[in-house]
Amino acid sequence: MEGLEQAIARRIEEFSRFTATPGQGCTRLPFSKETRAAAEYLKEAMGQLGLEVWEDQAGSVFGRLAGRDRSLPCVMCGSHLDSVVSGGNYDGAGGIMCALEMARRLDREKLERDFVVCALMDEEGCRFGGGYFGSLSVMGKIDAAYCRRVKDPEGVSVAQQMKAYGLDPEDIAQAAWAPGSIGDYLEIHAEQGPVLDQQGVPLGLVTGIVGIRRYEVTVLGQSNHAGTTPMDQRKDALTGATRVFLQVEELAQARGDCVATVGRIQAFPGSYNIIPGRAEFLLEMRALEQERLEELEGALNQALEEARAAGLEVRLEPTSASEPVRLSPTLLRYNREACTRLGIPCLELASGAGHDAQIIAGGARAAMLFVPSRGGLSHCPQEWSDSAHLAQAVQVGLELVGQLQQEK
Ligand SMILES: [Zn+2]
Repeated sequence: MEGLEQAIARRIEEFSRFTATPGQGCTRLPFSKETRAAAEYLKEAMGQLGLEVWEDQAGSVFGRLAGRDRSLPCVMCGSHLDSVVSGGNYDGAGGIMCALEMARRLDREKLERDFVVCALMDEEGCRFGGGYFGSLSVMGKIDAAYCRRVKDPEGVSVAQQMKAYGLDPEDIAQAAWAPGSIGDYLEIHAEQGPVLDQQGVPLGLVTGIVGIRRYEVTVLGQSNHAGTTPMDQRKDALTGATRVFLQVEELAQARGDCVATVGRIQAFPGSYNIIPGRAEFLLEMRALEQERLEELEGALNQALEEARAAGLEVRLEPTSASEPVRLSPTLLRYNREACTRLGIPCLELASGAGHDAQIIAGGARAAMLFVPSRGGLSHCPQEWSDSAHLAQAVQVGLELVGQLQQEK
């Protein structure tokens, strides 16, 4: 048999052909012809491994190895089919290829529960926003009205694009799995951050996925002549805005287990010689602990209060909030024990990025294994993970599936 490392490297190389931007990274947008070609490749690969193959009403691809007791909930393993624009060849694809290699190497004689490989549609949300389309469909949380309502920037709806892809959006509810039919979910994924690579550790055991709070903040002061207004007599909205978010970022830095980012800031009217009378910024906070999110929000509110006291007007608009998701402590323990048995060094960490696992965790025990991202790079053509690390993740995954067969 082809070696595990070689098999993973070959599949990732083959899969990297399905891009709309050859030579400029992986661009595999949902319901595109590149995604169609990738889906057909997977169906063929799954068929060759003897899996029962199907595509669901969301366009996700599944392959099942039947266990002895079909009444038991399945073990699902995989990742997402799509990519960002000019992303890398590992995000999503790495986890699918690992799941395929697990299916090839599982001891089928000892399989009590169904093992299902999944390649989920539109996790990234690159064209239509939102994301997690495949996993939300599996969980029964997408309906036809959603597909008709949600549109890309050109005004093309998900429903229209699904039809062009060969799917009927009116059938989307049929993609839902019966509650309890997925017992456990494992997703192998690149870390997409620098921690494992910097520490030289081949495997990360993911404890949970951070919650995200987003805000639009507006600070209003007084526009005035930038030459004649003394520094101590200004109502500079931009300076006020900067003081606000620096307080939040400094707290995040001091705590170390959370992040806060201002991704955009604008000052108005925007001229050399006018003190800004209005400043707007987008602030995002991420943390695994709910109480940390509360603390950061508290710091934001206090900083805004101080800006008010300094004579500025402030407006805070929360634009979105997602809760932190804890992955299964039981599966985390099984994976830790597997690493010990196999002699694979590992460390536990939270995921700062969103994943399908957080959606499926709503109805199943979920686990994630991270492999190092070289240089901490992801969502860019330079994204790279070592096949040797992916192979180690597969070994741990196989141990996990074995352990799950023995569970009472
Ligand atoms: Zn991903």
